Amino acid sequence: MLTVKTPEEVFEIIKTQFEPAADRTETVPWTQAAGRVLAEEIRAREYVPAFDRSTVDGFAVHAKDTFGCSDSIPAILQNTQEILMGQAAGFALKEGCCAPIPTGGELPEGADAVQMIEYTEDYGDGTTGILKPAAPGHNVILKGDDVYPGKPVLPSGRRLTPQDIGALAAMGVVDVPVVRRLKAGILSTGDELVPPQQAPGPGQIRDVNSSLLAALMARLGASPAVYGIIPDQEELLGRKIEEAVRECDLVLLSGGSSVGVKDAACRVIEARGEILFHGIAMKPGKPTLFGKIGGRPVIGLPGHPVAAFFITHIFVRRLLAQLGGYALRDIPVMARLSESVEANHGRAQYNGVFLEQTDNGITARPIRGKSGLITTLAGSDGYFCIPRDCEGLPAGAEVAVTLYSADG
Ligand code: AMP
Ligand code: MG
Repeated sequence: MLTVKTPEEVFEIIKTQFEPAADRTETVPWTQAAGRVLAEEIRAREYVPAFDRSTVDGFAVHAKDTFGCSDSIPAILQNTQEILMGQAAGFALKEGCCAPIPTGGELPEGADAVQMIEYTEDYGDGTTGILKPAAPGHNVILKGDDVYPGKPVLPSGRRLTPQDIGALAAMGVVDVPVVRRLKAGILSTGDELVPPQQAPGPGQIRDVNSSLLAALMARLGASPAVYGIIPDQEELLGRKIEEAVRECDLVLLSGGSSVGVKDAACRVIEARGEILFHGIAMKPGKPTLFGKIGGRPVIGLPGHPVAAFFITHIFVRRLLAQLGGYALRDIPVMARLSESVEANHGRAQYNGVFLEQTDNGITARPIRGKSGLITTLAGSDGYFCIPRDCEGLPAGAEVAVTLYSADG
């Protein structure tokens, strides 16, 4: 019998039944950290910048020397030595003086502002006219304006972006603590399956799920281990699952997760561990089961590739976050349906959509066609959910679309 859970109950089971992996972190060089999940908060250890810097090409001044000046009454200041890029200023600016400074140059001691070269005049006699007053701090980034020692910069659980890598470089954080890539074992079961590179014989089909799930695991930051196609034979399946459980952090098994005579997934897992539930009240993907063998999650996915994909994106993605000890950051895109969508089967219904930017905002065009068609999923952008008590949505209804490209 299926012990059916709602999607919300499954989220809860994932949180309560699985612990973050004990050895979940590793250190990688910052150059390899993009796309990885931070395992600890990153705080600055230094001042950035480490000295007061000019943000323009111009003249470093004492601000008060420029007060009241104008085009008609310039402040006439004595030129001093030039400040060079990448070198300490190396002198103190006296009152009544100004020093040529490049963008990014260090302010000399005493200077508290920079006036842009456009608002100055070179008199050629060792003096410069300042034509516009500069308030203290004008065109200057002060030491520590960006970060100072102890300032929290990147939160634990963040998936590092290129701009984060830039921040790490700026702070000199070159050893980055990240969540280890979890190893996900992938097994496809079914007597009808042949590998994609082989021409199917009568009654045979190509194995879609091994490739689809491996790509999805990699996309979500896990490391896929493909165990290949297993015929519908319990003995064989049992041995393969045991091998995968020994070698992986989690195991995804597709096909045979229903309750038919040939559907061995449930029996094979139960014989070696426990079944947490069998069946989710949703469409697609009802015949899904979650179990544990030796404390490791083993997920029985429906063989139908579209269902296997949705279940993995909705639930296994959360499981990866739970095992990795981080939170998902899903910010949905709000869009309006281009056409109505029916739903009246008493189960939550997940619908794939194509998004389009139109003059009237963002439109979500639902995927149409029979539910067994795998290529309708290709090219789509994300999905929305119609709750189980809802009898469908009219054209123009606003839906929250979870993007497939959402942070793992
Ligand atoms: P099952 O869950 O084993 O009952 O399979 C449900 C449907 O999905 C059947 O039509 C299977 O042929 C198909 N199917 C199962 N596994 C795969 C796979 N790896 N790739 C493509 N289709 C599959
Ligand atoms: Mg099957």
